[in-house]
Amino acid sequence: MGPADKQNRELRRTLHLMTSKVERNEAILKSFFEMEIRLLDCSRLDQLLDLILVEFKEYFRLSAVHLILLDPEGAARDLLEQYTPPEPGHTLRFVNNQRLLNSIFPSPLLRVGELSPPLKKLAFPSSPFVLSSALLPLVRQNCLIGSLHLGSNDPGRYSEQFDYDYIGHLASVISVCIENCINQQNLKRLSIIDMLTKVHNRRAFDQEITKELSRSVRAKKNLSCLFVDLDYFKLVNDNYGHQVGDKVLSSIGKLLKSSLRKTDFIARYGGEEFAILLPDCSGEQACHIADTIRQKILHMVINSADGKPFRISASIGVSCCDTSKYDHNNIEKLAHHLLKSADIAVYEAKQSGRNRICFSPTNMLEEACNSQFNTA
Ligand code: GH3
Ligand code: MG
Ligand code: MG
Repeated sequence: MGPADKQNRELRRTLHLMTSKVERNEAILKSFFEMEIRLLDCSRLDQLLDLILVEFKEYFRLSAVHLILLDPEGAARDLLEQYTPPEPGHTLRFVNNQRLLNSIFPSPLLRVGELSPPLKKLAFPSSPFVLSSALLPLVRQNCLIGSLHLGSNDPGRYSEQFDYDYIGHLASVISVCIENCINQQNLKRLSIIDMLTKVHNRRAFDQEITKELSRSVRAKKNLSCLFVDLDYFKLVNDNYGHQVGDKVLSSIGKLLKSSLRKTDFIARYGGEEFAILLPDCSGEQACHIADTIRQKILHMVINSADGKPFRISASIGVSCCDTSKYDHNNIEKLAHHLLKSADIAVYEAKQSGRNRICFSPTNMLEEACNSQFNTA
């Protein structure tokens, strides 16, 4: 073989190497581009987190993905109340301030390569088998809002020798997506949630009762309603101050949430009044639930500002609509009567001494509704 042939062969080999490198880069870019579209497509924080914490692992062939999010006011945690991350408490962590993030990123630049043992423990608390990693600072408006950790058990996967511009770009997209999801969902949440008690507000209840009644009528299932009114609440404010009163209301919100099913709908209907919808629940069952709530409220111990314990009680009105008797007409009126009956029942509970439950008989509601339907 002459020197020209040898040179030719060498050139062909270089060309082949370059083409395969370009093809490989194209494939990497394509996969990042596809993931970017999926990230931008997420409208909910839980979807976004599942994509990052679960799907990233398989898609990018990683052995661990961990995420730390700055959540100073607990807004993200509130939105994720029902969300269980993979490996709870490890793969997803929230921090109230930037201290931990600043210790991972002394400067807000991507960190790649092998980690020192203390940093590895910090970045991958539940994944000791990570041998190389990329730590991505999530930055919005010059502020560190989180840290995403991609870990591999291949020591050569992430190395300081290489450029990772595309990962840096992905980090920017993820930061925007996280911020957007939190802001959008929070805005929606603010319009339907009462911030003091963290249960729904009256506006949301008024919308839900007609939706739930339509569903119940269609499925020919009962729908029960509870109206909870705290007893002598004005005295709580007068004796212990408004702030303690607020604390009581917030505890009642927690108590109701922890006592009821996920499918039940709880709302703060007025100052110290809560309205609850219990789908697929008979009047008898609703009375039982109401009495359990009454007892729990009675046993709840609250501390005044100077540490003096006190208790409160509640009067609860119960009504139930046996929807098998109605058709789809006039749901609004049916809703009005269901609520009105619960209100009448609370009034009776108050009149007969408070700290009790009263049931407003359904036939009263039926008669009222039937006469409405007949005249319609
Ligand atoms: P009853 O047993 O008849 O229901 O007596 P009550 O004192 O509970 O009822 P009333 O309607 O006279 O008073 C309701 C009180 O609830 C008065 C108001 O100051 C208090 N309240 C309403 N909203 C809030 C709130 O957001 N925070 C606090 N701390 N108190 C509130
Ligand atoms: Mg009241
Ligand atoms: Mg009251």
